[in-house]
Amino acid sequence: MAVPTAAESTRCCIVGGGPAGMVLGLLLARAGVPVTVLEKHGDFLRDFRGDTVHPSTLAILDELGLRERFEQLPQHRVDHLAAIVGGRAQPIVDFRGLHPYGYLALVPQWDFLDMLADAGRKLPAFDLRMRHTATGLIEEGARVDGVHVQSPDGDYDLRADLVVACDGRHSTLRRAAGLEARAYGAPMDVLWFRLPRSDSDPQDTFGIVDRGHMMVMLNRSDYWQIAFLVPKGSDAGLRAGSVGALRESVAQLAPFLADRKTAIESWAGISTLSVQVDRLERWHKPGLLLIGDAAHAMSPIGGVGINLAIQDAVAAANALAQPLRGGGAIDESLLAAIQRRREWPVKVVQRVQMAMQKRLISRVLEVAGEPPRVPAALRFLLRFRAVRHIPARLFGYGLRQEHVRTGRDG
Ligand SMILES: Cc1cc2nc3c(=O)[nH]c(=O)nc-3n(C[C@H](O)[C@H](O)[C@H](O)COP(=O)(O)OP(=O)(O)OC[C@H]3O[C@@H](n4cnc5c(N)ncnc54)[C@H](O)[C@@H]3O)c2cc1C
Repeated sequence: MAVPTAAESTRCCIVGGGPAGMVLGLLLARAGVPVTVLEKHGDFLRDFRGDTVHPSTLAILDELGLRERFEQLPQHRVDHLAAIVGGRAQPIVDFRGLHPYGYLALVPQWDFLDMLADAGRKLPAFDLRMRHTATGLIEEGARVDGVHVQSPDGDYDLRADLVVACDGRHSTLRRAAGLEARAYGAPMDVLWFRLPRSDSDPQDTFGIVDRGHMMVMLNRSDYWQIAFLVPKGSDAGLRAGSVGALRESVAQLAPFLADRKTAIESWAGISTLSVQVDRLERWHKPGLLLIGDAAHAMSPIGGVGINLAIQDAVAAANALAQPLRGGGAIDESLLAAIQRRREWPVKVVQRVQMAMQKRLISRVLEVAGEPPRVPAALRFLLRFRAVRHIPARLFGYGLRQEHVRTGRDG
């Protein structure tokens, strides 16, 4: 990559090398559109990020010819999910029997992004710039015309016919554009940490729900990745004390972990996800589109964040590849059409997540509440695999599933 010295230009500037930005960059470059992807970090190594690759994303990887490469990444397949509610096992979600993918894959996000970056670097139109941070928008009248960039080689301006903000839930460009997100609230935050696995542990990935506590245990082969839910805003107070109470809660919820509870050494090894559910009213301005978490932060329920970000990217590439290959400005009506296409599936999933947050998670986290139990009627219905397919379809395949319609160089 040439060292930037002055103002530069590109056809499409993508800010953020997360799942949305990398997939959009790859698809556009593959279709022959010159793209520059700016990523503020020097690598993709971020622990405890979205690692759940759902069937909707597996389909995209197949369509991109990346499936074989993906299979070589370290991963663990999950084909069903159960919850232990008040000490009683309850099957909840079943991917088995769904076509064409009867499972979801747990894959470290950095491996996944490295794979996309490698595929992109083989394309002449793809320019990925690590440690390049977009600090603000260049605007000409009402139109966004590029971004100001900070890089190790100095600051510069990058002009672009279209800027796509894929810079995540704390989006700098969203703020710079003055676009407001509507926040829907969440009753919980999530503590993420690891504990070693032993051969005698359960094989499944599952959730445990008991009075005052809820945790999800993802089987990552040699370790458990644990999501422990705590009431919203309680993180600072918890961190002011010792990790002893957390160790005890974990051992109480999953007694087979009692022999390893001291592997939770200190708060330093525990990451907090401040859960946020929000959505922009308007995902665009002339010359600017926002997708992925920058347009809609999702609750972690269902592990849909990466997958929806990728669906947005595919929809955006399908709509934009051809006009971007031609000359001239991109009409804002095209950007509005992308929002219209993607807003409905996002809205429906957010509504389901919020209902679950209100009816299930809020109640469980109330220590003084009733011991949790699955209502008998629901328990009866969940005996049928077809019923357990419903959440697998909603979260795994998604509504209005996107497919790659852009070719190689057209
Ligand atoms: C702790 C945690 C656990 C999660 N667990 C799951 C899960 O299990 N399953 C799931 O599907 N989702 C999960 N998510 C959510 C998921 O990671 C996101 O929904 C998904 O990554 C969104 O993709 P994105 O590309 O829109 O944004 P991000 O992945 O947030 O990517 C944004 C990128 O932009 C870069 N960036 C930001 N600002 C700038 C700038 N100014 N200039 C240049 N680059 C910039 C960032 O470094 C980052 O690489 C989790 C999130 C967190 C934080």
